[in-house]
Amino acid sequence: MNKTDLLSHISIILVRPKYAGNIGAAARIAWNMGINSLQVVGSELPERETIARLATHNAAHIVENITCYSTLKEALSPFSVIIGTTARRGRQRLTEKSPREIAESVLPALAENRIAIVFGPEDCGLTNEELKYCQLLSAIPTADFSSLNLAQAVAIHCYEFYYGIIHMQRDVSPAPRLASSFELESMYSCLQESLTHIHFLGDKNHLYWMNNIRHFFGRIKLTSKDTNIIRKVCRQFSAHLKTERNRDDEHKTIRGKQS
Ligand code: SAH
Repeated sequence: MNKTDLLSHISIILVRPKYAGNIGAAARIAWNMGINSLQVVGSELPERETIARLATHNAAHIVENITCYSTLKEALSPFSVIIGTTARRGRQRLTEKSPREIAESVLPALAENRIAIVFGPEDCGLTNEELKYCQLLSAIPTADFSSLNLAQAVAIHCYEFYYGIIHMQRDVSPAPRLASSFELESMYSCLQESLTHIHFLGDKNHLYWMNNIRHFFGRIKLTSKDTNIIRKVCRQFSAHLKTERNRDDEHKTIRGKQS
């Protein structure tokens, strides 16, 4: 595969963007850097004319191919490497790296995997609930005022990925094909169910533990086969617990009848 063909494995995802101008400007810079997929999470695109004007006719094909997804989970399901972007630091979040460091670390995975770079809305950024889908967190280093304009943040990320790809050494050993977000989410929901059954997760602490578990698995880079194994273990675990509980209930009923 040609180095620049790798760019077709990258998608920009804008979550609930407010301003049409930012969507158009993001499409334009994506295409400047050879990236031709931009998707939106939101009910519909605002002011299509403004989007088209800011995108210019060069990036018109990107705008025409925008799909609006109702949830971020749905938009991310085909991607295996998911990078969230943020202007803010927060507890319970992953440690941020710069876009340059992120690009360097994920580029070997590009040949076999699809990568999504996720951007939040102009007013409030991505929520913790949205960031849970991301395995990596990218923050553009700034002086005191850390919040960039949305399209400018997209520009810096697209540039760093493009630069990284064109300067990538030919002998970089490619990373294997990883599990998709769809497979990972299905694994996490099985895990959550099993951990709830054994009361490891309660009402109060489940977000804390599930976030830590996500960070841990995010570092390991699971393949599709790995997620199947973990799901199978969880299912077996739940089935075993159910049998044990039924047996306990039967014993209680027998004892009740005997007394
Ligand atoms: N007021 C929001 C900023 C939103 S800016 C906040 O405080 O979070 C819109 C989006 O641009 C952000 O969600 C993020 O995706 C991107 N962005 C802005 N500044 C950034 C930075 N310094 N590093 C990485 N992404 C940034």
